[in-house]
Amino acid sequence: MVTVGVLALQGDVREHLTALAESDVLARPIRRASELDDADALVIPGGESTTMSNLAISFGLLDPIRKRIAGDMPVYGSCAGMIMLAATVLDGRPDQESFAGIDMTVRRNAFGRQVDSFEAAVHIEDVEGGDFHAVFIRAPWVEKTGPDVRVLGRVTDGPAAGRIVAVRQGNLLATAFHPELTGDLRVHRYFVEMVRQAQDAR
Ligand code: GLN
Repeated sequence: MVTVGVLALQGDVREHLTALAESDVLARPIRRASELDDADALVIPGGESTTMSNLAISFGLLDPIRKRIAGDMPVYGSCAGMIMLAATVLDGRPDQESFAGIDMTVRRNAFGRQVDSFEAAVHIEDVEGGDFHAVFIRAPWVEKTGPDVRVLGRVTDGPAAGRIVAVRQGNLLATAFHPELTGDLRVHRYFVEMVRQAQDAR
């Protein structure tokens, strides 16, 4: 069985562990580099990217995760996890680091200060079963993507309609919303399928 780690420094770790366990993989929290060695793939949860960045540095995980990303490990980031996967972060803290990986520019807290959290329908290419009922909490959006990035999902209704909120580049997947909070396992299952394909290709 494949083992998928969840970066367990901060954020909604438990919800991702549950969603993964229900998606037929072994799900493990990751707090140190040695635990990362045993994982075939990684999920970076939602939370607070500035705090996650500080903790990744102090737990010695920044470079090990960057190296695994460079070695093609599949990684899925939701919300703060999307920010942690972005090559460029707008409205971040000056000392904020990311694992980079996805050639995109994201804006933190992009949907406006007045809307802390909201829900909207999101269409995701490759995922059947209709639009997602997506939950956004102080979420980023994607402002720019490089040539190797596939836009997978956009908000389909409301004032934010058209905004890019799901992308994929190779084995890296990111969503601005939190499927781990809604019990809709389709994004996790899509990621697990990416992990299986990456394993078959080895
Ligand atoms: N605004 C948060 C950040 O900058 C992300 C919020 C979330 O993950 N729900 O990291």
